Amino acid sequence: MTKITDHIRQANGKPIFSIEVIPPLKGDSLKNLLDNIEPLMEFKPPFIDVTYHREEYIEQPQPDGTIRKIVTRKRPGTVGICSAIMHRFNVDPVPHVLCGGFSRDETEDFLIDLNYLGIDNVLVLRGDPAKPFKTFKAKENGFAYASELVEQVANMNQGVYLHEEDKPMAPSNFCVGVAAYPEKHFEAADHDIDFEYLRQKVAKGADYIVTQMFFDNARYFDFVARCRAHDIHIPIIPGLKPISTRKQLEILPRLFHLEMPDDLVQAVSACETDADARQVGIDWSIQQCRELIAAGAPVLHFYTMGKADNVQKIARELF
Ligand code: FAD
Repeated sequence: MTKITDHIRQANGKPIFSIEVIPPLKGDSLKNLLDNIEPLMEFKPPFIDVTYHREEYIEQPQPDGTIRKIVTRKRPGTVGICSAIMHRFNVDPVPHVLCGGFSRDETEDFLIDLNYLGIDNVLVLRGDPAKPFKTFKAKENGFAYASELVEQVANMNQGVYLHEEDKPMAPSNFCVGVAAYPEKHFEAADHDIDFEYLRQKVAKGADYIVTQMFFDNARYFDFVARCRAHDIHIPIIPGLKPISTRKQLEILPRLFHLEMPDDLVQAVSACETDADARQVGIDWSIQQCRELIAAGAPVLHFYTMGKADNVQKIARELF
């Protein structure tokens, strides 16, 4: 399959449309997800990201009144969904690969599976703390930071595996994306230190960057300018999320540690229904995208978070 960086090169300056999808809750059918993706094929996304969801610790009340703590994964299936996307749509899937919940050996096995499936793109992330915990803890013999996982993938791309065998090892061929936060990662003390760690990810082998969602393009433009000034010249893909409910005015800043521009807050607050808020979100996003395209953003990457009819309306205006 084609690497994200090659897709960008081949687009020759024309903006690319792409999306991120989330696996269904365990026990739900894959049909809804694929049916949501289908109408977006009209805009020819060359790649689709599929998020990864690590284990969670939940308390399960028992008939005898006691509470049993169990470990579960609410949204399994990332690799299967990638395979389904390849076969149904002939589009390159980009599985998200996490440090959280994985030892290095498990990561290696995971990457080998992806390699055998012909998946050549990965988005490498640390992952958030396992719920309900508040701080991230690496698994035993696992990684604490995404930069370390980038290094492991870069090593495999050189044919260097863990516990080297006494024979030549076939190199993998992964194109590696990493995350960045124009408004700073919430755990970082300040922008400078966060930026230094991003530089580490790039130095260790990241091929492109995908940003956290933002609603004020100035954040993205400042961030790109800073990267370029510090010799980071890999593609920087803006992550976009159209507002779709009034509640998201409160939820998105809290979950993703970002600020909403006043104009957007006022426009959504004035809405009497979620349908109105959805339309405001569509209009805002179209405006955002037009500016990003004019500024040369290589890809417009939408976080669909479930239903994607609003993304379809936005893409119709742009592609
Ligand atoms: P890192 O780059 O490791 O950074 C994490 C924190 O540690 C930052 O504060 C950084 O400044 C700091 N840091 C980095 N290196 C060092 C170091 N060497 N020493 C000290 N501090 C350091 N989460 C999921 O669970 N599944 C997903 O599929 C998923 N997809 C995402 C997609 C995108 C585009 C984005 C932006 C985020 C996604 N996330 C996902 C969320 C992500 O896992 C969290 O934001 C996580 O808290 C940080 O991940 P990272 O890869 O940016 O971590």
